[in-house]
Amino acid sequence: MEQLDLILEKANICLNCKKPMCKLGCPISTNIPEFIQEIKLKNFENAYNILQENNMLSEICSTVCPVEDQCMGKCVRGIKGIPIQINVLERYVDEWATDNKIEYKPEISPNCNKKVAIIGSGPAGLACAIDLAKEGASVTIFEKEEKCGGILTYGIPDFRLSKKVVNEIIERIKDLGIVIRNNVEFGNDITIDELHKQGFDEIFIGVGAQKQTIYSLGKENISGIYKSDEFLKKYCNGEKINNLGTTIVIGGGNVAIDSARVAVKQGAEKVYIVYRRNKELMPARKIEIDEAIKDGVEFIYQTKVIAANEDNKRVQEIECIKTRIENNKAVEIENSNFKMKANTVIFAIGASLDIRPFENSGIKYENGLVCVDENYKTNIEGVYAGGDAVETKSTVCRAIETGKKVAKEIIKNSKI
Ligand code: SF4
Repeated sequence: MEQLDLILEKANICLNCKKPMCKLGCPISTNIPEFIQEIKLKNFENAYNILQENNMLSEICSTVCPVEDQCMGKCVRGIKGIPIQINVLERYVDEWATDNKIEYKPEISPNCNKKVAIIGSGPAGLACAIDLAKEGASVTIFEKEEKCGGILTYGIPDFRLSKKVVNEIIERIKDLGIVIRNNVEFGNDITIDELHKQGFDEIFIGVGAQKQTIYSLGKENISGIYKSDEFLKKYCNGEKINNLGTTIVIGGGNVAIDSARVAVKQGAEKVYIVYRRNKELMPARKIEIDEAIKDGVEFIYQTKVIAANEDNKRVQEIECIKTRIENNKAVEIENSNFKMKANTVIFAIGASLDIRPFENSGIKYENGLVCVDENYKTNIEGVYAGGDAVETKSTVCRAIETGKKVAKEIIKNSKI
């Protein structure tokens, strides 16, 4: 069957529900039944405009969103059978637009006269910037890295999310008049006070969770031990990581899966994901786990890495202990220790806010998160925060949601 026929077949079974549960399941309320109806009529340009109007990062969402927990997971078609493959339809529409050189170019409305600084150009910052710029705000994004996109550029590997797609979206965003200043680091090169002095009325902080969690394996300053963010960033920057040997990834989320798959692609002899809980409690998406298995990654469940042994200052072996699950928690089983060969160990057990830039900023933070109210306002007037800086286990789409909500709040409070 031709791809178009397959897409129409998938779209045609959408019930165009009066109360679309799919839309309720989407953090940014994508107009799902509406764009699917346009697909049914083969009005792909209309479908594209519906998607873009709400979210210019649509193609990214269709690729990385955990749809089984969001829109697709809520589709009523899934109650007794197979849900509508919303992400497949969305991606088709966005790719169709690229292939046909159709570009969404929104009208800029003069509804917001604010000068807004956005700190961080990850999904939250980009989404906030887009919605503000469309309403006429003067928006400047400050990004500490050389390239924009945050996790989209430096965290998610290209075999999961094409960098070409990310770069093209960023270029289109610049066309909205958004100014991007790269290599400007919050806390070092710019502070909240300075931004206020430069005349910014409102500030949105979308810096992400930059401090990777790691624990001691008993040996300090030995090589071969990575944090997942530095490991993935090297790969995303096109750096070759040689001599990985037997690689152990500690963790159970999508970042652990990405790290393991990158290790395979970088020539590791053998790659294991070691997870302290069981398969059912593993937070990674099933589709990603399946891809990792296809790549040859092996999973070791109910196992905790507790120590590393070195030879010539390079990790050579890890020591593990088996666990049993009690109330969804991993409890170590006495005398179940064993050793495994390991030339590389990658920690992928989560990340939290890097509090250093916040220490003298006056912005309140607690337990590794910036404190915000229901409108993502911090304790400082005119300063908002969103994305991974304000919640744990955020997704790209959840981050976009926070950015969009902040933009809405700023526009609402605009004088025009
Ligand atoms: Fe279509 Fe499923 Fe949404 Fe209903 S819930 S409108 S069937 S995608």
